[in-house]
Amino acid sequence: MATSGQESGELEETAAIARDLIRFETVNFGGGRSKGETEAAEYVAAKLEALGLAPQLFDSEPGRTSVVARVPGRDPERPAMVLHGHLDVVPADAANWSVDPFEGVIKDGMLWGRGAVDMKDMDAMILTSLGDILSAGELPARELIVTYFADEENGGVYGSHFMVDEHPELFAGATEAVSEVGGYSIDLGGTRAYLLQTGEKALVWIKLIARGTAAHGSRVFRDNAVTKLAEAVAKLGREEWPVHLTATTRDQLGRLAEILGGSVDDPDALILSAGTAAGFLQAGIHVTTNPTVLEAGYKHNVIPDRAEALIDTRPFPGREDEVLARIREIVGPEIEIEIVHHDIGMEGEFSGDLVDAMVASLHRFDPGAPVLPYLMSGGTDNKALAKLGITGYGFAPLKLGPELNFPAMFHGVDERVPLDALAFGRAVLADFLRTC
Ligand SMILES: [Zn+2]
Repeated sequence: MATSGQESGELEETAAIARDLIRFETVNFGGGRSKGETEAAEYVAAKLEALGLAPQLFDSEPGRTSVVARVPGRDPERPAMVLHGHLDVVPADAANWSVDPFEGVIKDGMLWGRGAVDMKDMDAMILTSLGDILSAGELPARELIVTYFADEENGGVYGSHFMVDEHPELFAGATEAVSEVGGYSIDLGGTRAYLLQTGEKALVWIKLIARGTAAHGSRVFRDNAVTKLAEAVAKLGREEWPVHLTATTRDQLGRLAEILGGSVDDPDALILSAGTAAGFLQAGIHVTTNPTVLEAGYKHNVIPDRAEALIDTRPFPGREDEVLARIREIVGPEIEIEIVHHDIGMEGEFSGDLVDAMVASLHRFDPGAPVLPYLMSGGTDNKALAKLGITGYGFAPLKLGPELNFPAMFHGVDERVPLDALAFGRAVLADFLRTC
């Protein structure tokens, strides 16, 4: 359904901005290395200036730039809300993609590229929805602190955590925050429903270290660091963490059972019956310990004395210690565990004025669609803002067709977003900012 108008440059403004942002190739390689963030930050700052705002730029390190701008609200008595996005993306291996991941290709009615859903779509929706309000001579319902952070994809050390730790005054007066991962639709057996993110699991990135003795690769040899590490990694990767429910997932499962007709007594089966949406929901009820990186050895005929693996661990909020204790049990006493990065989880209520305003805005554009609470398995910059007592939500509204496997888009190959979903998001977000 490619339309020639879209391909020939008459692109809706949200899609055009998201495409520009994809072309900045703001790749976060981890370990403090990235590129393109300053250029993208200057681009969004110029867009904010064009709206009559006074954005400020902050560099935590050269090239690691975040942007903040205050937008007055209709009611200056009400606490402010942080509306934030991140400008960095995870790397993309172009060899696996069917298009250039950093060209911003428009094809089949969609914008393709790294960041199309995480989260240059929302970055653009923030600018265009705000533009719709301000250019009509209106103001958002309450004061906004519009922020674009660097380094979200590596835990926000050079972005949100730096900003919150070094410049907390920028967020003074804010009580709530709205950002990515949530607000989009999922298909539940033919019913279009929306996930509204009210919590995030914790994040503990650990390194497993196995030690042995270096030796010739031809010997009979048991003290092999690679073998020890491989055993530990396999056990941890295959661990079946039991179902763990929180207030959010209990509520969510009840609503899923109503829509899908299943039973809350078997949460895994119920979630799996949700189809592709299970990709978002399943990790909401289990701890995960996924091996992601292996490092060992330097020559085919040398047994190395050290082997390392990185494990992405996502415990439930406040349960980090018990998960680490269980991991120690699983990998055994010979394996050292180093905590590389830790960040909190948090869980809010699926109620209150702000949640009501998000649901009402969705319903004005998609009447009657069920909205479900969502405990996200990933992390966002809301973790850093939580240090200031700011309650964060995920609300980047997108109305999607059932054919798109949306969970697979996040950090996935051929990441893409429908153009009409971007226009929907712009309208819903503008409505929300006027009414929240
Ligand atoms: Zn993201």
